Amino acid sequence: MSTLTKQLTKVLSQIEQAATAAHRDKHEIKLLAVSKTKPAEQIKLAYVAGQRRFGENYVQEGIEKIQALRQDAEITQPIEWHFIGPLQSNKSKLVAEHFDWVQSIDRLKIAQRLSNQRPAELPPLNICLQVNISGEASKSGTTLSQVIELASQVSELPQLKLRGIMAIPAPSDDVNELNNSFAQLHRLYLQLQQTYPDMDTLSMGMSDDMNVAIANGSTMVRVGTAIFGARDYQG
Ligand SMILES: *Cc1c(COP(=O)(O)O)cnc(C)c1O
Repeated sequence: MSTLTKQLTKVLSQIEQAATAAHRDKHEIKLLAVSKTKPAEQIKLAYVAGQRRFGENYVQEGIEKIQALRQDAEITQPIEWHFIGPLQSNKSKLVAEHFDWVQSIDRLKIAQRLSNQRPAELPPLNICLQVNISGEASKSGTTLSQVIELASQVSELPQLKLRGIMAIPAPSDDVNELNNSFAQLHRLYLQLQQTYPDMDTLSMGMSDDMNVAIANGSTMVRVGTAIFGARDYQG
């Protein structure tokens, strides 16, 4: 078994254990393998081990890998591609054409562009609104006070499907602080579900905090390092 396969297996069992500890069904929690900065060959190894959902942060890099894997005759099952990085307007068309999900929507203008640019022959692009929970000016994401309005605007866009919210709380060694952030996101998610009953995605939790996120109702953890190893450059 390759190192990557072992690490993937370990992450899956960690999810299962965290789910059990939280009295949740493990099937409620999806694993997004964050493959940014990692080569297509490693994504293929994860695919062969059964992983079907990958996250990328950089448009050009992501599309190169999507295309490489689409041309690979051994990849016969569909792969779900999530764009999770900051998105500039001038790159939105490429994302609308190649990805299945965008989790990093924090303003209406980008959402409108994606809806307009989504090719008609493709299903609507799945969207998560990125919420800035830690209130740091430098981090992307919409504020808690703006998210309700953004949700109502995005839900009207024809070629988008509003699936939920995503957040990246500031890293912290303080479990209480993390718990509070994730709990707050969970409350927001439940509140939004009252208006959007089809919403099914609370995307929170990464390599270092997935257990706390799962304890607080996460339905999708985005895990890079714990599967693929440390990255050579930031992202
Ligand atoms: C890089 C990244 C991750 C994965 O982080 P790890 O700590 O490597 O698991 C998850 N979500 C987003 C938005 C990221 O940019």
